[in-house]
Amino acid sequence: MNATPAADTQGANAAGDRTGGCLCGRIRFTTRGPAVFAHTCACPHCQKLGGTPVMWWVGFETVTWTGEGGEPTWYETFEGEAKRGFCPTCGSRVAAIDSDIPEIGINVTALDDTSGPDLVPIHASFRENAVHWLPPVPETEHSTAS
Ligand SMILES: [Zn+2]
Ligand SMILES: [Zn+2]
Repeated sequence: MNATPAADTQGANAAGDRTGGCLCGRIRFTTRGPAVFAHTCACPHCQKLGGTPVMWWVGFETVTWTGEGGEPTWYETFEGEAKRGFCPTCGSRVAAIDSDIPEIGINVTALDDTSGPDLVPIHASFRENAVHWLPPVPETEHSTAS
């Protein structure tokens, strides 16, 4: 997740609570509010952190940590500005907090149900850093975010 238009609710609807968690199940969460600005990101941080060519993010107004592991462990990717949450037991990436974005970022892959149409990426951040062998996400929303 990186700097993106924060208030954009394109593709979101009045969805109910959603649940998710890490691979081992110690970190569990419930989200509240519509899914905001589902997007992929191929920035160098996402690639290194995720161990993947591209990460898949979405924002929610509220995330409640419900598992026995409590909150994820936070790693500050930019000190005081951005941090990424992961399970210290299994290493799954689950969340992101960015100081310039009101929503809490969730790794869509951590949700129990990733099939919602409002989770389909509407933007691809850092296209220029994406691997050439994966088809790009169609640009369905005009954005000034890189
Ligand atoms: Zn875990
Ligand atoms: Zn990124």
